[in-house]
Amino acid sequence: MIEWAEQWYIDKIKEKLLSQTRRNESGCLEWIGKTTDGVGYGLIGFLGEQVRVHRLMWEIHNKRPITKGMYCCHKCDNRKCVEPEHLYEGTPSDNQSDRISRGRQGENCGGQSRFYEGEVWLMKKLSGKVSHRMMAKMFKTTSSNISRLINDKIKPKVLRETSSSDEKG
Ligand SMILES: [Zn+2]
Repeated sequence: MIEWAEQWYIDKIKEKLLSQTRRNESGCLEWIGKTTDGVGYGLIGFLGEQVRVHRLMWEIHNKRPITKGMYCCHKCDNRKCVEPEHLYEGTPSDNQSDRISRGRQGENCGGQSRFYEGEVWLMKKLSGKVSHRMMAKMFKTTSSNISRLINDKIKPKVLRETSSSDEKG
């Protein structure tokens, strides 16, 4: 977690960040500097730590750290993008629809692609009665994911709804 440094340092780091970006045709401010191995997020040294650039940009822009337990997500599905307007602070579930549709392991927003068993059950139950678009809203996912979940075309990690302690380790 970043401790808030003096403004001059923030300005300096911002300048440094911006010098390693390039605006693409879709409006994304793409990071052209160092990235994390295999994951594709920009990395930069900040106050003695290696931090993810998009996260740092969000924090600089909003003048506060990302809330503990929350993630810095991309609206634009471009991991290299560090444009603050394309970033938002979200929960892991805010991004699960995107992760499922992209078939990724969830680095984008931390966490994993998960629905509760009961949610998938409910989707199937509602199928034919409620539009996929409406369900997408209810389950914070996309309508194409709804249809894929209903048809068992994709298998999200399903969580058990019980809060029993048999899931240790
Ligand atoms: Zn973007």
